[in-house]
Amino acid sequence: MSRVYAIVNQKGGVGKTTTAANLSAGLAKRGKKILMIDLDAQANLSAHFGCAVNDEPESVSMYDILRHNEKMENVVRDVSENLWLAPASLLLSAADLELGGVIGRESLLKRALKGYSERFDSVIIDCPPSLGLLSLNGLVAASRVILPVQSEFLSLHGVRQLLDTIDSVRSAYNPSLEVGGVLVCLFDSRRRLARSVADTVREYFGDLVFDTIVRTNVSLAEAPARGCSVLDYDPKSSGAEDYGKLADEIIRRGT
Ligand code: ADP
Ligand code: MG
Repeated sequence: MSRVYAIVNQKGGVGKTTTAANLSAGLAKRGKKILMIDLDAQANLSAHFGCAVNDEPESVSMYDILRHNEKMENVVRDVSENLWLAPASLLLSAADLELGGVIGRESLLKRALKGYSERFDSVIIDCPPSLGLLSLNGLVAASRVILPVQSEFLSLHGVRQLLDTIDSVRSAYNPSLEVGGVLVCLFDSRRRLARSVADTVREYFGDLVFDTIVRTNVSLAEAPARGCSVLDYDPKSSGAEDYGKLADEIIRRGT
């Protein structure tokens, strides 16, 4: 059975999309077949791999999956060896309003993946920076949550709210949902504040924190403009090393 990961944090700029792109690429390079799903109307993940649909009005996207029962086959695109992507579109920004009255609105993605996700080893869902209906669909479809936290501006209150949301999704819709791990992103080891935040994260979340810490690295910010992951853009960078290590850790833990 394939594992479905939702990368969730209601805060923007913490490294969700960067993690979705480069963890997926790391797993794909290790021979795993990976489907990335972009659920953010900003479509940063889609743009990262040159699959933005907003410039091509006739293209179908995750919006059509959720709104019009489109089939995953018709939306998913080839990215590179072992790597596929279901792109987002700006239309997703209206999803909360448009789908609010639909019965089963929280499990539209889960239903779309049924009978389809099995052809991949893992599915990695990049969620938007809010806890609305799109992130809820991600959490209902997932078996594991990956929770990126930014080491400089961590707000434990926001993370607690997210953990509460995960608990309610687990009891209401998805008993098999677990926290796969908390990932410290944008870590600047030269700053004392970042170091103490990393310690606080470990005190607070214990074993849930990945051993791998993602350091701040300019290649990670540059890779999207090159249309590829950091592992292809700059394989010797610390960003490539960190996301490679994260892929190894996830394979090793089997989480
Ligand atoms: P989110 O999806 O949570 O909003 P992103 O992954 O888009 O966050 O990251 C926000 C910005 O920070 C992006 O411009 C991205 O390129 C950059 N970024 C993310 N992680 C790193 C990192 N480890 N080092 C340097 N820049 C990063
Ligand atoms: Mg993002």
